[in-house]
Amino acid sequence: MTETKTEKDEAMPHPSLLERKIIHFDMDAFYASVEVRDNPSLAGKPLVVGGSPQSRGVVCTASYEARKFGVRSAMACATAYRLCPDAIFVPPNFDRYAAISKEIREIFGRYTAIIEPLSLDEAYLDVTLTTRERGLYATQIAKRIQDDIISELGLSGSAGVAPNKLVAKIASDINKPKGITVVPPEHVLKFMGSLPLRKIHGIGPATEKRLQKRNFHYCRDLWSWSESALEEELGNMGPWLYKRVRGIDERAVAVHRERKSIGKEDTFAVDILELAALDRELVTLCEKLEVSLRKRSLLGKTIVLKVKYSDFTLLTRSQTIGSGTDSASEILEVARGLMRVTEAGRKKVRLLGVSLSNLSSITESFTLGSP
Ligand SMILES: [Mg+2]
Repeated sequence: MTETKTEKDEAMPHPSLLERKIIHFDMDAFYASVEVRDNPSLAGKPLVVGGSPQSRGVVCTASYEARKFGVRSAMACATAYRLCPDAIFVPPNFDRYAAISKEIREIFGRYTAIIEPLSLDEAYLDVTLTTRERGLYATQIAKRIQDDIISELGLSGSAGVAPNKLVAKIASDINKPKGITVVPPEHVLKFMGSLPLRKIHGIGPATEKRLQKRNFHYCRDLWSWSESALEEELGNMGPWLYKRVRGIDERAVAVHRERKSIGKEDTFAVDILELAALDRELVTLCEKLEVSLRKRSLLGKTIVLKVKYSDFTLLTRSQTIGSGTDSASEILEVARGLMRVTEAGRKKVRLLGVSLSNLSSITESFTLGSP
């Protein structure tokens, strides 16, 4: 037995990949699925949870029927309506989703105490100990969680099972809905190779473009580069990316995951001078921020406005209010005040961002683990 293990160890790309069993569990179209469950007449219809099509609101979640028309989360509701005029628009009920989220976490808790919630509908679970103690494969645990949630809550979710968070999160998205995707340690490298770089959490559209300019499209495109060469080429991101494109991620599943701040920002295709145009951008950012805050049941007291001018000089202005908020209109009011004490309108602006810090959780019961 020992011999076999040693041989296997030597063949593995990285020792940390062998040790941990991580599940990323993600509910399928969560808000929309809750609405359909509670109102079966909506079943099978394109459904958008979010603002009304006439409002400036954004899509929180779209049902799979609506996604077929191209409707996506964070899209403006007016755009969603244009893509899918037959869609039924339902306002979100965050209190309801939060209550169900608690029930889901209770089910996770049957299988491990090491749970890191990412939002109301997804979490990382470290089940390494559970596999050893109960003699179960991580995949069997994922299946049991999925079955418990379907039979007890009437909702479906998908799981990714892998040796780390990076790979588990990518995997959970592959066979949605009701999927379980398993990437054992020996398949990690092959799995990562064919993935577009944007699948790596942390690579957004702007970074993706920057990488594509260097002809980096898939993870394997970077494999022939040494760590130091990548650092030279990409700066700080180089060594980080060197690991990620090989599926290496040593981050632990953090039970106490306290966010310091949460924000939204946008780099414009063309620098903006007009205040009215900047104000429109500000409105959108605040609305997106509200969705993010509500998904995570967070309130923030300090509003931070970030402005980058066309000459790349960066400026932040902040203001703390009396009590925590997650309301787009409250945040907007403060952010507008902060914008007046910048040079926006006189200097061209390249990037605008709004974030909230001084965060607290709406419901303390969402903080898992011992105090
Ligand atoms: Mg989800």
